[in-house]
Amino acid sequence: MLQDNYTQDLPLFKGVTVKYFRENEENGNLEVFIEMPVKEHRCPHCGHTTTYIKDYRLQTVKDLTVAGKPLIVTVRKRRYICKECNSTFTEDNPYIKRYCHFPQRFYLEAIKETSDLQSFSAIARRMGASVTSIIRWFDNINYPKAELPSCIAIDEFKGNAGGEKFQCNLADPVKHKIIDILPNRDSEDLYKHFLEYPYEKRAKVKKVVMDLSTLFRSVAKKIFPEAKIIADKFHVIRVVTNSLENVRKRIQKEFHDTKRKWFKRSRQLLLKPEYKLTDEDKIELNRMLISSRELEKAWLLKELFYEIFKEKERKAAKHQLRDWLLLAAELSVPEFQHCITTFTNWSTEIANIVDENVSNGFIEGSNNKIKVLKRISFGFQNFRRSRNRILNLI
Ligand SMILES: [Zn+2]
Repeated sequence: MLQDNYTQDLPLFKGVTVKYFRENEENGNLEVFIEMPVKEHRCPHCGHTTTYIKDYRLQTVKDLTVAGKPLIVTVRKRRYICKECNSTFTEDNPYIKRYCHFPQRFYLEAIKETSDLQSFSAIARRMGASVTSIIRWFDNINYPKAELPSCIAIDEFKGNAGGEKFQCNLADPVKHKIIDILPNRDSEDLYKHFLEYPYEKRAKVKKVVMDLSTLFRSVAKKIFPEAKIIADKFHVIRVVTNSLENVRKRIQKEFHDTKRKWFKRSRQLLLKPEYKLTDEDKIELNRMLISSRELEKAWLLKELFYEIFKEKERKAAKHQLRDWLLLAAELSVPEFQHCITTFTNWSTEIANIVDENVSNGFIEGSNNKIKVLKRISFGFQNFRRSRNRILNLI
C-alpha cells in the first residue's frame, strides 16, 4: 500500500479524495479507491442547498494501464437528498462523468489510438473495451467542413463507402495535410459541395493540382475563379512511360522465349532517364533498341518528353510540348496516340507544371495509407465514419 486517505495532486485524481492506492499482489492490478469530499450541494430540481446524504453507490471502472499494470478504480458515489423537494441526486465527480462506464481519459486515449493505422477491434482488444464502445465514442467526432487553402490537390480513391464506389480526397499539397473527404465524384455533388463556400473564399484558391481528369478540371474552372490548374507531373510522365511499356510488350510478343525474357527483365533500362544510365546500361539498352525501330522511336519520345520539364518558364515549356506533339504525330507509334490526344487537351495545365513546385505526390501517398486503413477495417461501409478515420489519420 502506498498511502492512505490523501487528496491526490496528480491531474488524474484532481479534486477527489484517494482513500487508498495499492497493488493487488494476487493479480498485479493497481487498485485505487476514490470519493468526493462532502460538501454542500445545490438541488438540481428546486435550487435549494443540501448536505443530507441519502446513500452510497460503488462503481468500479477500468482505467488505462500504468507501467504495464491494469489500473482499477473504485469510485464511491454519494447520493444527496433535498429536504425541500425530497428528490435525490448523485454528486458530480471530475474523474468520471455521470452515466459513464469509463473515465474521460480512457475515451480520449481510445480516440487517439484511431489516428494510427489499426482496426477498431485491435484498439478494443488492447484497451480491454468492447468494439461497439470504441466505435460509439469515435462516432461522436465531428469534423466540420474544411477551410479552403490557397493550393488544393484533388484526387479520387476507391473507398466503396456509403454505397458509392469512388470518394474524393482533397489535400493541401503545401502543408501535406488531407483537408476533406467527399462522398463521391459526381459532378453535381462536387459543385454543390464547393458552392456552399462563399465566392470570396473560393476566389482565394490560387492553384489546383490534379491528375488528367476532365471532370475535376471542369469543376475547378467553374468553382475556383482565380485558380491556375496544374497537371500532376508524375501522372503526366506515367502516361508516357505506360505508352513506352505498351510498345515494349507489343514488340516482345514476336520474339522467341529467351529474347522475350531478356526484354522483360531489362525493361527498367527503357524507363530510366538517359542521364541516369551507366555505360554498361547504355550498351544493354542499345542492344534492345536496335531490335525494333518502333521501340527506338518510343524511347526517343520518352526522353524528349523529359526535356519539357527542364524549361524554366511556362511559355517555353508550352513550345516544347507543341514540338513534341508534332514529332509524336510524325513518328506515329500507335501506343502514343493516347498521349497525343490527352496532352493536346491538357497542354496549358502541363506547361503550368514548370512554374509551380507542387504535385499530387502527397495525396497519392495518402491514398495508399487510406488503402491500408480500408484493408485493416475490412472495408469502409459507413462514409461518415471512414471520413472521420481518414481525417484523424494524417
Ligand atoms: Zn430540491
